[in-house]
Amino acid sequence: MFGKARCKICGDTVRLVLKHLNDKHPEVMAGSGSKSRESMDKLVKKYFEEDE
Ligand SMILES: [Zn+2]
Repeated sequence: MFGKARCKICGDTVRLVLKHLNDKHPEVMAGSGSKSRESMDKLVKKYFEEDE
């Protein structure tokens, strides 16, 4: 995983992407079903892009 990432939903640049999803976009987490690491990785790739 990367250090900082930009949220494609709201445009915020965040360091803790899963915390951001939990806090700001709980519906995304709720819709993900499994909380496995693999599905979390997919969520991060889908909703965030690397911010250098
Ligand atoms: Zn966001």
